[in-house]
Amino acid sequence: MSESFGTLYLVATPIGNLEDLSDRAKSTLKSVDLVLAEDTRHSKRLLDHIGVKTPIQSYHDHNEQQKADQVCTLLQDGKNIALISDAGTPLISDPGYQLVKLLHDKGIPVSPIPGPVALIAALSASGLPTDRFTFEGFLPATGSQRRKKLTDLLWEQRTLVFYESPHRIKECLHDMKEIFGGDRLATVCRELTKRFETVKQNSLEKLILSLEADSNQSKGEFVLVVHGAESKQDRETVEIDVGSMLETLLEQLPVKQAVDITVKLTGRKRKPLYQLALSIKSAEQ
Ligand code: SAM
Repeated sequence: MSESFGTLYLVATPIGNLEDLSDRAKSTLKSVDLVLAEDTRHSKRLLDHIGVKTPIQSYHDHNEQQKADQVCTLLQDGKNIALISDAGTPLISDPGYQLVKLLHDKGIPVSPIPGPVALIAALSASGLPTDRFTFEGFLPATGSQRRKKLTDLLWEQRTLVFYESPHRIKECLHDMKEIFGGDRLATVCRELTKRFETVKQNSLEKLILSLEADSNQSKGEFVLVVHGAESKQDRETVEIDVGSMLETLLEQLPVKQAVDITVKLTGRKRKPLYQLALSIKSAEQ
């Protein structure tokens, strides 16, 4: 019977500032029978800091599948368990999805203890439209796959939110400039809630310049918030016209020539057209 089952609490922890841990998070971590954490050593420091002695076990990408069944059994035996990640909200670009899905299948209760999440902190401070947005998590690590993904997002009108690591932040901004154009507005949110927090809004072109002018600006943790594409009308006109123009030209010409002609006729930027031409070509194969 579900009444005798324990509950899995998804507890949000700070993304850099320990004072952001809520009272409810603290009391949940204290009262449960077990805490599951991505990195037990890292999370033990948090538990020690708040004087919590609850046993802690690891739960991460590499043991998620096998661990999910064990956790499920404990919950069925009536134990209450908290899942935390290294920072922020569990399951948001962090492990836990397999487990939560399994618990839904088995009718075992899941309860969120909400709190910090980097994407929402960044979006709220970004100065970009917050009414509709899409969270894209981390972009692919390889340049060609990243550019392909960005090309797929070229006409997305909702505000775009990305997580990015310090060693790819520059490349990523350069790729965004190539594909979205240097004038597209974006906000770089770095080290949120921490000592060197910076939130800077500017065109992609200018953001790159300021990042390159100060190497410290490429250090730390990043959320990139990017303005969506301008208007649906532009999208329809350009997508239909340019797409069919390229398609027709590609029937007769190699990619470079087809793109050159389309650039001349439409005045559009070369890179996105080139990407579009490549995707038309690969769709044909
Ligand atoms: N679960 C976390 C959350 O709720 O935001 C996200 C975990 S994900 C593995 C880690 C990424 O989140 C970092 O690489 C960075 O992009 C973003 N992030 C986490 N903390 C941040 C902070 N204090 N400032 C900016 N970005 C942060």
